[in-house]
Amino acid sequence: MCCACRDYAEPMNSVPKTVRDDSAGDAIREVDPAEALAQQQATALLLDVREDDERAGGMPSGAVGIARALIPQRIREIAMDPVQEILTICGSGKRSLLAAQTLRELGYANVASVRGGFARWQAEGLPIEPGELDADSSERYARHLVLPEVGVAGQKKLLSARVALIGAGGLGSPAALYLAAAGVGCLTLIDDDRVERSNLQRQVLHTDARIGTHKTESARIALNALNPRIRLELHEQRVQAANVEALIRDHDVVIDGADNFPTRYLLNAACLRLNIPLVYGAVHRFTGQVSVFDSRRADSPCYRCLFPEPPSAAEAPNCSEAGVLGVLPGVIGLLQATEAIKLLLGVGETLAGRLLCYDALAARFRELRLSRDAACPGCGSHAKFEGYEDIARICSSA
Ligand SMILES: [Zn+2]
Repeated sequence: MCCACRDYAEPMNSVPKTVRDDSAGDAIREVDPAEALAQQQATALLLDVREDDERAGGMPSGAVGIARALIPQRIREIAMDPVQEILTICGSGKRSLLAAQTLRELGYANVASVRGGFARWQAEGLPIEPGELDADSSERYARHLVLPEVGVAGQKKLLSARVALIGAGGLGSPAALYLAAAGVGCLTLIDDDRVERSNLQRQVLHTDARIGTHKTESARIALNALNPRIRLELHEQRVQAANVEALIRDHDVVIDGADNFPTRYLLNAACLRLNIPLVYGAVHRFTGQVSVFDSRRADSPCYRCLFPEPPSAAEAPNCSEAGVLGVLPGVIGLLQATEAIKLLLGVGETLAGRLLCYDALAARFRELRLSRDAACPGCGSHAKFEGYEDIARICSSA
């Protein structure tokens, strides 16, 4: 059922204009919003019976919010006196009739429903209390808000989160688009490249018209168009020993969409030192892999538990040399975005300790267990951090 249609959740012909209580023989009384306000200001209790996510966008001032389905369990906490006058209000005045009927069946004799619901209450300019989310957010994130695992609390976590994306290329494009759409409040994009025609086969943040533009600027245009309400921080820089900590400090999650080993080793070292979870992704021809290196967990391996030393250039050709199927970074980048959102919400089981491998030709996912390596040069018991310059040097000598 579409949530815009909740007022029609019951078959239309079973929701008469006025609900009849056969036992009492009385119809549920309906009152206009202005009359409801006057009664509320006297002694009546106004119950907003819409769902939590609907009320997140605001409700009548002074109303008490309780989803219709919860009335039987919770109403005694709210109204102890069965002669208390109760007015019910919903989106457009249909569910509130049913809610009033339920209340009557529970023994409340003095009930009425607000005609036209919150839509009419708003249209008549009656007083409204802002919800936890503003109207734009409660509409934009409506499909998140109905998920109990996200809800208003989870969406607020996303809205206050900061995610750093290293690279606005193949992996960064899908990740940034979906994180922006999901309402991650601040995205930091770090990339020093300009858009080239050969990028457009997979880097869907960019467009033909923006060839030659900085990728960060091109990404800004795309992400702003999708969700103008999130904040973007752009750095036209390459991640280096001298700037890596400053670039990712104060972020909740870092997404590694780098296309080179020095950047990956630097990010790993900085995420270990700053205690920030790192969502790793890599693609090669028709295959890709994803994992999470979460240094906040004692059992989580780091990138160097998996790859202790950087491979030589011959062992690890990049996309421009080896080629990559255009859709592949889309799959892997979206798995990275999914892991980032799980980390931000604190839900589900992340890929920490697991390497998820995707083979596009075979259409197969494989999962490898990754354990933390006690002898890891990055996070092992004898690991020594001798500065980011030192890490950059290891990579350049590989
Ligand atoms: Zn390690």
